[in-house]
Amino acid sequence: MQNLKNRATREKLFKASWYRAEKGDENDTRAILEKTAKLKMDKAHLMGKSSYAELNLMDQMAKKPENALKLLSQLANPAVAQAKKESDDIQKLIDEQKGGFSLEPWDWNFYAEQVRKAKYDLDENQIKPYFEVSTVLEKGVFFAAEKFYGITFKERKDLPVYHPDVVAYEVFDRDGKSLAIYYLDFYTRDNKNGGAWMSNFVEQSFTTNTKPVIVNVFNYQKPAPGKPSLISYDDVSTMFHEFGHTLHGLFANQKYVTISGTNVPRDFVEFPSQINEFFALEPAVLKNYALHYETKQPMPTALVEKIKKAATFNQGYATTELVSAATLDMAWHSVTSENQFKPTLEFEKDVLQKYGFTLPQVPPRYHSPYFAHIWGGGYSAGYYAYMWSDMLNSAAWDWIKNNGGMTRENGDRFRKYILSVGNSVDLNQAFRDFTGKDPEITPLLKDKGFVK
Ligand SMILES: [Zn+2]
Repeated sequence: MQNLKNRATREKLFKASWYRAEKGDENDTRAILEKTAKLKMDKAHLMGKSSYAELNLMDQMAKKPENALKLLSQLANPAVAQAKKESDDIQKLIDEQKGGFSLEPWDWNFYAEQVRKAKYDLDENQIKPYFEVSTVLEKGVFFAAEKFYGITFKERKDLPVYHPDVVAYEVFDRDGKSLAIYYLDFYTRDNKNGGAWMSNFVEQSFTTNTKPVIVNVFNYQKPAPGKPSLISYDDVSTMFHEFGHTLHGLFANQKYVTISGTNVPRDFVEFPSQINEFFALEPAVLKNYALHYETKQPMPTALVEKIKKAATFNQGYATTELVSAATLDMAWHSVTSENQFKPTLEFEKDVLQKYGFTLPQVPPRYHSPYFAHIWGGGYSAGYYAYMWSDMLNSAAWDWIKNNGGMTRENGDRFRKYILSVGNSVDLNQAFRDFTGKDPEITPLLKDKGFVK
């Protein structure tokens, strides 16, 4: 959509996608999903709960659907207001180009990209020479972890690897003792899944007396032989993100595997990873790793500022489409009696209206008939979890900034209360232990650029 110059083609593509599962043919999902929603409600009733959301949230940090909905509604209004401003910017551009039409959902990405270029003048090719993959890893990701947590890393060329591209490190704790083995698999291959993730080959447990063995997998483009591997800022951010999951696994300190490390509720699991992304732009960290691969010069301040400014670009749109999808999910699974159900499209329309998602140019990221995460993907009444984790990491980072920043003391504190406890304690209490209070929404609204 971002690259299609022909407006009619964009519209055709958008509609083909949007209406894909409601054409009255054998791929129409509406009857099945209405039945699925009802069966989930019946299951909750059998378990003594009023709705599926209530059943599902019992062991999550949010605990009750009301708490998840409260968070979503706190995000909805500012997000929609910001998206409205963004849509005005785009309409202005369309008018300047004498487009002669009103902005529609299929135009958004195409024009947003032009607004981005005009407003931030940020060119990937300017940035990439400063992000060489092993420098980002060792002088950025590892450096931040050494500074904050006191852990160190040593490459182990003697350990077996499953592909020649994979590298292995031994991780040492603050007292110099061996803590874990950490594998990295950077480059894309034909037979490899897309995306980036962390997983444990071996999980920490005192019962089985095992230390963690962890892998981070990425899909960076492998450079030609002899050429440096230069990555985008998004890729840098992903590396810090996945390493945040790794830290959660590394510092696991539990008797049982099932509650150790990253085996935590879904609305908590992205907290350690997302908070680690903040380190990428910490001045002390950035100046250590963002070095031009040829000249070894640090990134010019003007370029750093551009990256920081561009971080809040299009957040109105991105947040609105996510929060509206999460609200739809919560609404479908909060139904308590059969007569509250309506035909799929009507149900969706009413929910979006009720919760203030009234900007037609920004539809929910997933439309009910093909919202696979919540019908078959295990995210039923769980899609809000991304936003919940987001609230936690913004609030915790805010606390760190206001209490001395990247100190070893704060690192130890974060490790003690958040990263080492797995799911062995009440995580709401763990958060309070760390920051002294419940998480608030304001830091997240600030990070997204919705409030000053
Ligand atoms: Zn993640």
